[in-house]
Amino acid sequence: MSLLTFAKIAWAAGVVCWYVLRIPFERKAKRLRVADARHRTAREMTLLSISTLGLGVVPALYAATSFPRFASYPISPVQVVAGVLVFAASLWLFWRTHRQLGRYWSVTLEIKAEHKLITSGVYARVRHPMYSAFFLWAVAQALLLPNWIAGPAGLIGFGTLFFFRVGREEQMMREAFGAEYAAYEKRTKRIIPCIY
Ligand code: SAH
Repeated sequence: MSLLTFAKIAWAAGVVCWYVLRIPFERKAKRLRVADARHRTAREMTLLSISTLGLGVVPALYAATSFPRFASYPISPVQVVAGVLVFAASLWLFWRTHRQLGRYWSVTLEIKAEHKLITSGVYARVRHPMYSAFFLWAVAQALLLPNWIAGPAGLIGFGTLFFFRVGREEQMMREAFGAEYAAYEKRTKRIIPCIY
């Protein structure tokens, strides 16, 4: 097997693991009634589609067909090892965030009935560790797919979702949790501990 094929398979395996990991939590999350879903809008759906395009469709097309060929460059072993490690870190963080958010998790922005604010574990130092995990996934994709379009597509796709969503999510959380969230914001960063 060539290094390139291995890297493509490693990327695909990471995506499949993420998908499988999410199934039980998706079931759990459906059980709680939604109290505030006014953010389930065309805007949110557009952002989700852009993210799916960058993290899923564009890299899958490249992995299967090597399209767009002109943007490809030779792969290095160091890059592949780093990519596998970063994807593993991403999956670990996904699993932790899902375990902790449990029934409060949702694909779009919503507040559940009896929603409680989680501020411990991986939520102790950053407010959006699940988004940190998505960024790690996007970095792993850029490392594992040696193509100047398919590689960075995840960073661009998820980056778009993140920057257009995070302000609104924090606004929604401030409205739902008031002073409790304001205090939480004071002692935490968004996605990188101590930095951002
Ligand atoms: N931004 C978070 C969660 C993403 S899932 C992260 O990156 O980890 C999105 C849903 O999680 C939102 O609809 C919100 O209701 C819920 N949520 C976000 N932060 C939360 C927290 N600290 N405690 C409980 N629920 C939270």
